[in-house]
Amino acid sequence: MSGPVQEPDRECSDDVLAGVEAREGRRTSVAGLDVVRVLPTKGRRTVGAWCFVDLMGPVDAEQPDPLEVGPHPHIGLSTATWLLEGEALHTDSLGTEQVIRPGQLNLMTAGGGIAHAELAARPPFRGAQMWIAQPEGTRHGRPAFEHHAELPQVEVGDATALVFVGTLDGAGSPARTDTALVGVDATLHGGAVTFPTSAAFEHAVVPLDGRLRVGPEVVEPGWLALVPAGVEELRIEADGPDARFLLLGGEPLGEDVAMWWNFVARDRVELEAAWRDWRDRTDRFGDVSSALERIEAPVPPWVRADG
Ligand code: MN
Repeated sequence: MSGPVQEPDRECSDDVLAGVEAREGRRTSVAGLDVVRVLPTKGRRTVGAWCFVDLMGPVDAEQPDPLEVGPHPHIGLSTATWLLEGEALHTDSLGTEQVIRPGQLNLMTAGGGIAHAELAARPPFRGAQMWIAQPEGTRHGRPAFEHHAELPQVEVGDATALVFVGTLDGAGSPARTDTALVGVDATLHGGAVTFPTSAAFEHAVVPLDGRLRVGPEVVEPGWLALVPAGVEELRIEADGPDARFLLLGGEPLGEDVAMWWNFVARDRVELEAAWRDWRDRTDRFGDVSSALERIEAPVPPWVRADG
């Protein structure tokens, strides 16, 4: 339940950050569901290996089916699904059938190829869909799926944090990481928190509820605060009584990724090969057991241009 990468997302590159910088997300829709895409954003394609962050919903009980995404493929990335409200059913070409609820993590790693479908049964529904680019060492490898129902929670200052990926203040998630990463869902009960961070990591602070002050910047839901590497602690202040946010970070990927549709690769040759394999129904991606309709890929714009 993610993507696809759209034309504006493909134009992003990684500019050097002078300090904390705020960016406004872009409103778009995925399978009829309103989302705010906060990454990629202007001048920034990746934060650590995090390469895609969509905030989905909220969808209230008045609205029809919140999310139905039929079978579609991925390569070269892990999808991290994190719900704030509701529940969703994940099925994939490994034979996985897994319901996910708030506070749980679904982590699907594509390697050389996987296909999956996502269905949110009923409103209310709200969540975050994130992609993590795989490094050269694992991106051609076997696909995999993990569900983590129990994740460590840690109190830091005035904040309560659930650690879904990596480690924060000694609390470590059991989830797989292919590069050094952290992913946390934090609730700040007024006041401020200073998180210990790795100086080797760059970070993004993604507000979910309430306004936050991150360094000199004030950000609110729909925005992103980018924090360059080199800091050993990160102070975040609530600009109101309560605030909730995601803290995402990691070692800079150090590889130029090429993203198109649901694929993360290194160049157009690889992207085009994946597109052909999905179109031609080769055995690269496998079959997904789903009542939803298979999603066909559009023709890549550079293929269209070549006639
Ligand atoms: Mn997907």
